[in-house]
Amino acid sequence: ESFITDKLHAIDASGIRRVFDLAANLKNPINLSIGQPDFDVPDTIKQAAIKAINDGKNSYTQTQGMADLRERVMNQLISEFPQTYANAQGTFNNDDLGLLITSGVSGALMLALLTTISPGDEVLIPDPYFVMYKHLVTLAGGTPVFVDTYPDFQLTPDRIEKHITPKTKVLLFNTPSNPTGVVAKPEVCKAVVKLCEDKNILMLSDEIYDEFCYEKTPSDHDGKDRCPSPAAYSPNLIMMRGYSKTYAMTGWRLGYAVGPKAVLDQMTKLQQYSFVCAPSMTQFGGVIAHDLDMSDFVAAYKRKRDMVVDKLAGTFELTTPGGAFYAFPKVPESLNLTGAEFVEKIIAKNCLVIPGNVFSQKDTHFRISYACADDKLEQGLDILVQTANECA
Ligand code: PLP
Repeated sequence: ESFITDKLHAIDASGIRRVFDLAANLKNPINLSIGQPDFDVPDTIKQAAIKAINDGKNSYTQTQGMADLRERVMNQLISEFPQTYANAQGTFNNDDLGLLITSGVSGALMLALLTTISPGDEVLIPDPYFVMYKHLVTLAGGTPVFVDTYPDFQLTPDRIEKHITPKTKVLLFNTPSNPTGVVAKPEVCKAVVKLCEDKNILMLSDEIYDEFCYEKTPSDHDGKDRCPSPAAYSPNLIMMRGYSKTYAMTGWRLGYAVGPKAVLDQMTKLQQYSFVCAPSMTQFGGVIAHDLDMSDFVAAYKRKRDMVVDKLAGTFELTTPGGAFYAFPKVPESLNLTGAEFVEKIIAKNCLVIPGNVFSQKDTHFRISYACADDKLEQGLDILVQTANECA
């Protein structure tokens, strides 16, 4: 104990563990708590990684990532956001922009926060949030400042503004969102980007669920339907994406960050002395991943989303999730139960969901992941509705 730093004492184990402990006794539960897709990594990606290993390509890569992969990422970014990234040169190491291949978005978040946060700096975290944010901010010596986005989970400038102080340094933005599945509207992305620029706040935009977007809107520059993104409006933010969710590569640890070169250079330096590089075989898999069309999987998840919305309507208040594979219903107030109390009743019926207080300062909601087989999902949704009716 005496060896453990105060920094670590300030961080509690993720509340999700408590759910796992409760769940440990269940046999074959209906599991609506999983944060990863239920399909396997596409075979071509596996084969590319296996070939790299067998060909002896097992060394460290450049710290900033393999040139091939960087190029694929850059091309994708330029085709999606030409207005923001088209003047990037070569592999993005021009005067303004940097690109870093990381060990997942988690790696990118950690590097970005350690790079930008000094003790006492405040970091705006929209609530509900991905649980890692508040812990990484604390670890980096910053102070998490939560921005309430209930009940519609849109992060509007007026919700943010009252929390801005001279110490505000960074804003974490996550669209599509874990845990709510909500997709930020384009006008919200634009307004929040402007607010951050006006107030000299660095936005870290976590877009790990960008492929799982069911509410695409025509983009300003070419009219094509795309997932709304702050990166459409400015290069002066750090945009992070990954391969974990899109290609079910959660265990492979691959992602990237793009943004202002001054910050990315420091993140690269930090990676050099910590992760060194993202896993090499994984980067070979990542190169191939850019060739794949995942739209059938996304269509399947949209259908599951519709199933969740249909089944829960009438029983739970639910902001329609426009992306990711989560829904965040509210426990009906008439039940007089907290999110955690309701979830205990659900777990007792052999179904796993996660209480909202794991992702929030409030305990009024719960998170469902619908990344599972249709029959299991249907059974789980029936349990949720029945239990709410029984408790009424
Ligand atoms: N950001 C969000 C919002 C997530 O939900 C997750 C994983 O659940 C991550 C980041 C971490 O992703 P990675 O596997 O790329 O580290």
